[in-house]
Amino acid sequence: MANSLQQTTAAGTERVEDIAQFDVIVIGAGVTGLYSLYRLRELGFSVRAFEEGGGVGGTWYWNRYPGCRFDSESYTYGYSFSEELLQEWDWKEHYSGQPENERYLNYVADKFDLRRDIRLNSRVVSAVFDEDENRWQVQLEDGHRARAQFLITSVGILSAGYIPDFEGIDSFKGDWCHTGRWPKDGMDLAGKRVGVIGTGATGVQLITEIAKEVGHLTVFQRTANYCAPLRNSPIDADEQREIKASYPEIFKKCMETPGSFMHQFDPRSAMEVSPEERLEQYERLWAEPGFKKWLSNFYDVMMPGEANEDYAKFVRNKIRERVNDPVVAEMLVPKDHMFGSKRLPCESGYYEVFNQDNVLLVDVREAPIERITPKGVKTRDAEYELDVIIFATGFDAVTGSLIKLDIQGVGGQTLKDKFADGPRTYMGISSAGFPNLFTINAASVGNFVRAAEPLVDWVSEAMCYVRDNQFTRISATLEAEDAWVKHVAEAGAKILRTQANSWFVGANIPGKARVLLTAPDSAPVMRAKRAEVAANGYEGFLLQ
Ligand code: NAP
Repeated sequence: MANSLQQTTAAGTERVEDIAQFDVIVIGAGVTGLYSLYRLRELGFSVRAFEEGGGVGGTWYWNRYPGCRFDSESYTYGYSFSEELLQEWDWKEHYSGQPENERYLNYVADKFDLRRDIRLNSRVVSAVFDEDENRWQVQLEDGHRARAQFLITSVGILSAGYIPDFEGIDSFKGDWCHTGRWPKDGMDLAGKRVGVIGTGATGVQLITEIAKEVGHLTVFQRTANYCAPLRNSPIDADEQREIKASYPEIFKKCMETPGSFMHQFDPRSAMEVSPEERLEQYERLWAEPGFKKWLSNFYDVMMPGEANEDYAKFVRNKIRERVNDPVVAEMLVPKDHMFGSKRLPCESGYYEVFNQDNVLLVDVREAPIERITPKGVKTRDAEYELDVIIFATGFDAVTGSLIKLDIQGVGGQTLKDKFADGPRTYMGISSAGFPNLFTINAASVGNFVRAAEPLVDWVSEAMCYVRDNQFTRISATLEAEDAWVKHVAEAGAKILRTQANSWFVGANIPGKARVLLTAPDSAPVMRAKRAEVAANGYEGFLLQ
């Protein structure tokens, strides 16, 4: 819907014409953006989604590196809002791969006719709040502009790729890329000398897969991770029937757990049972697929303390058992952080890669990377000649993608300045001085779709409340925001996720404030809190 407006906006003094007008602008057409579009349209809002990529899918559009797949169960990851969709879609594997996940999200976009409201190849470069009109004006890189009362940032928590500021990247004569921008046509790695920098969840998946085809692989590892076997398998016809018949139970289970996964902790402490019983449980769960190994384990395995260290020892020994060379094995055994304090990657043959003659593990904590040279990677100790360098170096998580958008609120204040010492929001959703902006990406925790659906529902209902009560603005109060920031710091300090240097706390990005970037509370606690806020007439929000 494009109106021909002849007006001067607060967003700029120039006359603006032909600016498309909507009730809501959604930035991003990934998992959350697609659902936002569906839901808001159902509620009678006019919506336009702007997506930087050439297709829908967000994470599953960009991260097309070899080996990319879920490590939560496929059937817990799909949308729950349509019974028809649930019954139509066959997940082919218990832990589905990127190509299939991208197909799924395209299927959803087609089935619900979402594409007509999505503009692809549309990178947002700024979003400015027009205080006179109470509308956001969004500017795209290609010059296109649009305005809407509400702005939703469905930009993902892990979408702003991070490449360390190594000198000399541009001098490299071979090919290079970041895993989060893997070329659509793939990379030719067969028989080549390939270097991978980074051994997080992405590096672990990628390394395992490309080790099958490269000529020689050099893995540059700064921190060894606790990785556990994924044990993926195809879903057969009987399992498919069972899954489709039990979606209500699957989703109910997910909604009851802290991270919205389908696994419940054992309510016993690891330390209150005998060593034999403890080991029996560790071994039994180790043989199971997916996250069960820790999320169905003794509850205190995932809390700082004795049980956590006991389980860490068990996992370290599992790693040692799989690597032939004891020196290499010790390099792969994590010793500098607690089990679960960083995101735990699941793998399908990762450790065996290091038994291959054509694979070299380089410790870049001991001898850091000094620069990229025309020939390859130069560490303190040596130069490694490569044809391809792959940066599996992670993301400027949660706030990185928001800040890139150049969001300007009341009085020209930017989100970038406001978040300089860490995100300042209420419940991750709203920030004082940025009316009608919902930072959905900053509020999701745990199993993504399970967390995103109720969050989008809540935000959509808040918008209905504003519309139905003829308000023009909604945003967090400064008091609610201050209290939330204090709560995140205090409650966050006690949990496992804040104990290591990882993206959870922004510690992977040099110079970024070290703050827990998501809520410290479990998903059920967050849902209950949001429900209470809404029931109390959006307590903690300023409605004007
Ligand atoms: P990451 O966990 O942040 O890992 C980045 C890696 O790059 C780390 O090994 C890091 O080392 C290394 N690195 C960064 N700067 C470096 C430098 N200057 N020199 C040497 N090494 C450097 O990023 P990621 O692996 O992309 O994963 C991010 C998140 O995406 C995961 O935690 C997970 O939530 C999600 N993910 C999910 C899946 C899935 O669902 N299956 C798959 C992949 C990713 P340090 O550890 O020493 O910092």
